[in-house]
Amino acid sequence: MEITAGSHVWVEDQELAWVDGVVTSVNGNEAEVETINGNQVTTKLSKLYPKDMEAPDTGVDDMTKLSYLHEPAVLHNLAIRYGIKEIYTYCGNILIAINPFQAISHLYDTKLMDSYKGAQLGDRSPHVFAITDVAYRAMNNEGKSNSILVSGESGAGKTETTKMIMRYLAYLGGHAAAEARTVERKVLESNPVLEAFGNAKTVRNNNSSRFGKFVEIQFDARGQISGAAIRTYLLEKSRVCQISEPERNYHCFYLLCAAPPKDAIFRIVAAILHLGNIAFALEGEDSSVLEDDKAKFHLQVAAELLMCDLEALETALCKRNMVTPEEVIKRSLDPLGAAISRDGLAKTIYARLFDWLVKKINVSIGQDPDSKCLIGVLDIYGFESFKTSSFEQFCINFTNEKLQQHFNQHVFKMEQSVYQEEEIDWSYIDFVDNQDVLDLIEKKPGGIISLLDETCMFPKSTHETFAQKLYQTFKDHKRFVKPKLARTEFTIVHYAGEVQYQCDQFLDKNKDYIVPEHQELLSTSKCSFIASLFPSLNAETPKSGKFSSIGSRFKLQLQQLMDILNSTEPHYIRCIKPNSDLRPEIFENGVLEAIRVKCEGYPTNRIFSEFLERFSILAPEVLKENVEENVACKSIMEKVGLSNYQIGKTKIFLRAGQMAELDGRKAKLL
Ligand code: ADP
Ligand code: MG
Repeated sequence: MEITAGSHVWVEDQELAWVDGVVTSVNGNEAEVETINGNQVTTKLSKLYPKDMEAPDTGVDDMTKLSYLHEPAVLHNLAIRYGIKEIYTYCGNILIAINPFQAISHLYDTKLMDSYKGAQLGDRSPHVFAITDVAYRAMNNEGKSNSILVSGESGAGKTETTKMIMRYLAYLGGHAAAEARTVERKVLESNPVLEAFGNAKTVRNNNSSRFGKFVEIQFDARGQISGAAIRTYLLEKSRVCQISEPERNYHCFYLLCAAPPKDAIFRIVAAILHLGNIAFALEGEDSSVLEDDKAKFHLQVAAELLMCDLEALETALCKRNMVTPEEVIKRSLDPLGAAISRDGLAKTIYARLFDWLVKKINVSIGQDPDSKCLIGVLDIYGFESFKTSSFEQFCINFTNEKLQQHFNQHVFKMEQSVYQEEEIDWSYIDFVDNQDVLDLIEKKPGGIISLLDETCMFPKSTHETFAQKLYQTFKDHKRFVKPKLARTEFTIVHYAGEVQYQCDQFLDKNKDYIVPEHQELLSTSKCSFIASLFPSLNAETPKSGKFSSIGSRFKLQLQQLMDILNSTEPHYIRCIKPNSDLRPEIFENGVLEAIRVKCEGYPTNRIFSEFLERFSILAPEVLKENVEENVACKSIMEKVGLSNYQIGKTKIFLRAGQMAELDGRKAKLL
């Protein structure tokens, strides 16, 4: 649209992200803007976005009702709504949820649940209940599984949203109150347990989930909940041993004080705490001993709690077996090696305990083998980029690329069906595809995960040789960048932006490896529970000492998840964190991916009569001609010189920016 003096526009602002103002003059490709907070700003014309002067003051509850679907318009609309405590907004049938960081009374009570039951999407104000109701009804009516995918950055409100979905499903598909210990109660009660062991305080969220979760709720033919299964993904093991202020370890370590005296589970949690206090000192040239009496005390308590032999525990921490053709020699570890060994032991025990808990919960809830339909609820970590991003971020961002692809395909299909309904041609719409990033990461052979596995299996590799291999292999890849002067870093151009990864710990973190000495020690624990977590080597667990790759296993898990999701009808909830210091009522945020995808097609459509009401002034003669509405719409577009739009059966479909162009023409006439 042509921006001239007098145009109302949005201009970028350091503090507010966007601020609106009026263009005072245009010189070449630059404009002077007077913003509403009284500043004079000079900026490139291409950086200005037109403001819709006809948008309602209270915002719109569905973003697709906006005339201009660009970033400032979208954020402005969300900010207006957030200001009046409307935290939910639709973008078509995607729900956008902004974390209120405060309890909003009545937002989730039973009376409200009653009002959403059976209501059509859009009949009532946007809500998680509305989306969940649609999923539940679709499942009942069409006999097809559905899923609800909740995404967003850490602290955006995914886990709380997931809990509301589960509560509403329990309300819809629950059993008579008389039945004690119903399936749905067990599902809801599993949340606090999983959160105690899998959530921790981080700088982004006081109750941050450090694992991904997919809950599959099974229903019987009458639409009642008949079983459930919980799958978890990639628990952050490193947190057990490494926390940086002001973050904390998993909640359970602090809940320990209130635990029933030494329950087998808490016996393990306590043992891990004591392990963490065992310090080592150098002895001789390269051996280690317990540092002092305090270390000895903690070793003793840890051994008691783990119910294993004190000396055997010390040996397992400080020594390694060297297998030679003739004999097995015990080699000493230096203090650093012993500390790594100690942390490895603690992480392994914790990870096994977590997996056990999940299994136990699944057994306790029970699965319904006859269930035909399910509703899956996915609560998974959003895209992450830190100063030093490591293997965990690599896996997390890989997950997000996968989900993004799923999302793109779904939105594409949805748009397609709207276009088909209106019988317009959609064949030439190109949707952004991120297959190239996915290939870079997961292609077998040749992708980063494959190369990492190869490197891990080769005994002489280091993180430097791994980095070199990446640089060589992907030097011409569009999505791969070797940062200048980098020796062990690489950058992936993700759909959400560039992330620089630090290779240093990729090899270690990819090895799913239990030290044989640790395995041996714990499998012979006198506590049968602990021993059962470490079944001896011939069992189904990966062979101790043999290489097994976390990356490849994660890739497989992810593929299985995608297979399930692909067999369901998906619904999307995008959570947004309004600001980074966890305070309410300040609004700031980046681009909304959902909207970007939408903008690729025909983001705006209008019923013919509405369109004519707004724009007939551009070609008053067409109204006089007494032609059909669609012909009149076409004439207006032709007169203004716009093409690429489409005329459907009841609506006109516009490309991004066309609405603004029309408004611009209108403003000039007035
Ligand atoms: P995520 O799982 O995306 O990291 P959470 O769901 O744990 O984020 O939310 C972080 C915090 O934000 C919660 O502990 C809670 O205090 C607050 N919060 C999130 N959603 C809501 C909501 N709908 N209403 C009130 N508070 C919320
Ligand atoms: Mg969470």
